Amino acid sequence: MKQYELTNQDYELIDRAKEIIETNFDTKTYIYTVGSAIRSKSGEVFTGINCDGIHGSCAEFISMGAARAAGVREFDTIVAVYKNAPNCLLPPCGNCRQMLLEYSPHIKVILNNESQKMIKVEIQDLLPLAYVHNDQME
Ligand SMILES: [Zn+2]
Repeated sequence: MKQYELTNQDYELIDRAKEIIETNFDTKTYIYTVGSAIRSKSGEVFTGINCDGIHGSCAEFISMGAARAAGVREFDTIVAVYKNAPNCLLPPCGNCRQMLLEYSPHIKVILNNESQKMIKVEIQDLLPLAYVHNDQME
């Protein structure tokens, strides 16, 4: 699995995800606990927080939706944070991995490795042998 060095922009992305959840953390219901930030290829950053409900939505879906709603289609890196996780980094769940692969097959994800060290990898390495639509095969 190819790992990329975290850049200053990546640490800023992590900070943006922390900011959005610190601003919106719900101390009464603990519904809003995860923040996400996604950076476009051109450097724009969009954020999201998880939303609870019958089906709910992970923060990654919300940040991706905010970026898509703004017209962004090319993505560089995404991160999700949860304050009690090691380094505050939360790996994407299986559903988010599939969504990220379909929306941006080369997006990089910041997460912890097995030693709790921050790493950045391509989404394809987090979902080997994934289902892909025929028109997304590269
Ligand atoms: Zn998820």
